[in-house]
Amino acid sequence: MTPMMQQYHEVKRGLPRDTLLLFRLGDFYEMFFEDAEIASRLLGLTLTKRGETPMAGLPYHAADNYVGKLLAAGKKVAICDQAEPAKAGKLVKRQLTRILSPGTTLAANQLDAARNHYLCALAHDKAGLHAAWLDLSTGEFKIATDPRPENLLPVLTALDPAELTVAEGALEAWKTAPHEQTALHALHHFAAARLVTDLPAYQFETAGGARSVMNTLGVLNLEGFGLAPTHPALGPAGALVYYATENLCAKPENLRGLQEYRSARTLLLDPATLRNLEIFASSRGTREASLLAAINRSATSAGARLLERWLAAPTLDLVEIHRRQSIVGELIQQSTRLVDLRGLLANVRDIPRILGRLQNRLRNPRELGGIKDTLNQLPHIRAVLASFSSGSQLSTLSSQLQEFTSLRELLPRALAEELPADLADGGYIRAGYDTELDRLRSLTTDNKTWLSELERAEQERTSIRSLKVRFTNNFGYYIEITKANLHLVPADYIRRQTTVNGERYVTESLKQKEKEIFHAEENALARELELFNQLIAAVLDESVALAQTADTLAELDVLAGWAVLAREWDYSRPVLDDGDTLEIVEGRHPVVEQMLKSPSAITANGTSQAFVPNDTVLAADDAQLALITGPNMAGKSTYIRQVALITLMAQIGCWTPAKSCRVGLVDRIFSRVGASDDLARGNSTFMVEMNETANILNNATDRSLIILDEIGRGTSTYDGLSIAWAVVEHLHRGETKGPRTLFATHYQELTQLEKHLTRLRNFSVAVKEWNDDIVFVRRVIPGAADRSYGIQVARLAGLPLSVIDRAKTILAKLETDDTSVELPSAPKARPKKKISVKPDAEDSQLSLL
Ligand code: ADP
Repeated sequence: MTPMMQQYHEVKRGLPRDTLLLFRLGDFYEMFFEDAEIASRLLGLTLTKRGETPMAGLPYHAADNYVGKLLAAGKKVAICDQAEPAKAGKLVKRQLTRILSPGTTLAANQLDAARNHYLCALAHDKAGLHAAWLDLSTGEFKIATDPRPENLLPVLTALDPAELTVAEGALEAWKTAPHEQTALHALHHFAAARLVTDLPAYQFETAGGARSVMNTLGVLNLEGFGLAPTHPALGPAGALVYYATENLCAKPENLRGLQEYRSARTLLLDPATLRNLEIFASSRGTREASLLAAINRSATSAGARLLERWLAAPTLDLVEIHRRQSIVGELIQQSTRLVDLRGLLANVRDIPRILGRLQNRLRNPRELGGIKDTLNQLPHIRAVLASFSSGSQLSTLSSQLQEFTSLRELLPRALAEELPADLADGGYIRAGYDTELDRLRSLTTDNKTWLSELERAEQERTSIRSLKVRFTNNFGYYIEITKANLHLVPADYIRRQTTVNGERYVTESLKQKEKEIFHAEENALARELELFNQLIAAVLDESVALAQTADTLAELDVLAGWAVLAREWDYSRPVLDDGDTLEIVEGRHPVVEQMLKSPSAITANGTSQAFVPNDTVLAADDAQLALITGPNMAGKSTYIRQVALITLMAQIGCWTPAKSCRVGLVDRIFSRVGASDDLARGNSTFMVEMNETANILNNATDRSLIILDEIGRGTSTYDGLSIAWAVVEHLHRGETKGPRTLFATHYQELTQLEKHLTRLRNFSVAVKEWNDDIVFVRRVIPGAADRSYGIQVARLAGLPLSVIDRAKTILAKLETDDTSVELPSAPKARPKKKISVKPDAEDSQLSLL
């Protein structure tokens, strides 16, 4: 084995399992053995052989892109670089630079700028679920613990971590837990969908975790964060710090403290609701047509990420919600200033991620340029904010933006106009900033002048007009003489190389000058790097203040975006209180409304169907449960989702698509909507539906908002009707109040419950009948629908007329049969027999066929 391969194996041995090693050889990163095979398959690289060893290489300057692809394929990648300049005949020292994994990468082109990027650690014990999550790209670091995993899993699902770590064996233990331990199965399900790295169990111990967290944050205790050293989530937090340190091959330098997340302080959106309401992604999995896309008007990526965090864990703090609403209101009233502000924000760069990279040794001149550009905007942004009346929420926000007077002066003076992406290229420090650098650079230019003078002098001396002084990377400086002129070459020329067209020579003085040039260039680059590091140090000295200012800018950006959104779509400011009503006047569905106006929805004659607004009144102790009937396609699902989305928007502080709206704070939003298939996990549609329903019935409180669509559809009519019926009764079981609920159903029979359940109200989505056709008017009106119009809707869908006619005949026959439904005798008493079907009913159906 060659010494180099020995070196390779040594590095490789120290790596975690399943990590591809990229080994720097000159201008290439090489992979060997199985790594080479995997990488060549995933990246389409040519697989070659050195002796018997399979290998594949990629050029170092393109490594970022290739690594991005490997990460996207769920691989981990270790980068091993040369630790000293190569010298002929000597084995170069090499060392591991960092390990990249989907959750720990920092490079801009491997991250989605508009999304947070979490690494998460989980542990479960008798005391409950303990979690820590960390966005290494921005330094956000949080922990949480809850005796009930179902209180924590929703927010973790919303955060959608890129990678998880758990203690060895945990995954298997959750998977094989007894069936009734549904929380553990939910945990397993959450983890199994992601890249999971096992760590030894001792990495999850609380005491050790507390120590390594304090050590990394550079604090002596955790009291400043309001945390006891025995907080059980410090175990996972320690595991994260350990994992991040191992990956970075250094302590993470940009962690900004540790915050505790408490589920009781946020509106919880359970995983099914995130999916059903298409909060972060549409049902097709794209971000388009999601609520996030519909309400994001941020000009910066940090703003887009903040919005994502607000949506993942909406606050229950009324003061904070009112503050956000007021800022939106102040901005709406000053439209020119709003436009100015947005223009300035558009030039703000991604400071949190730039800092994250600079602090973790990923440094290039353009990052400093990003800081410079952003600081330049600050005085202008402050000026715009200052023009709002003093005492307004905006002027308070403005006081949180710092000035950075000295950095703002220093960076433009030090940095060149055009910045190279690579530090090694040099040329990023402005001329005139440093006399020493200027002197070294002038040596280089003087030398270049000397070279062109040499060329002229030699042309004269040899009478060869085509004589050229040239340079190549491999070869250095040389004099080139074409074949025709070789007889004129003077004796003092030293021949170095023959080419197709002629010969290459050097002279003693050229060799001497070459040394000087290289030396001067090297010195200039070294001086430049030194200055660069001083600038970085000056920036990092201010990192805490910069991060705070960046947070304020992100907030301002989201709120200014909402002001634009509110003007654009005529939103109003909702009233929030801690009552338990929900009143919406002329509410609209924020996503459907925008879709109807989109170019693709506009019909040939240039018109688009306008969204029809609808009212809603719910109160926990009065109109608690709205039962909505109406034909398919009438707009039931759209209506109930719109209510949930308006509530959610109101609770993150956004204005809402309604004429007016009053929301008594909601603690959880539950939904059971449509039929989401989960066949891959071996669950039938019906099973999923029942799981989701069970979750709602078990966890809803009187402060919750529930929307249910077509419960019971996945099974036979009578089973389904019975289940739907019992669910309604269960939700109405409270003596005086219950969770605010919207229940859309096609079971006409349920409408009779209004007579017996005092807090249930019937509504229907109106349709107009016209001859044998129906026209959808999209209006929600009080009272039950009289018919289901299924056959008319089927006709609109283009079913063959013969089938439609036959269906009508069958329907007429069925309707004359007595499949009556008996009602419960008292509101809360369980009906003894909910549905009585005449024994011959089934026969009569059969006889039709
Ligand atoms: P249902 O649940 O009753 O079957 P949907 O809610 O799915 O009906 O609505 C069917 C279609 O009608 C939707 O695709 C939507 O575009 C349109 N729609 C629903 N409500 C409205 C409304 N208020 N205004 C305009 N179009 C609507």
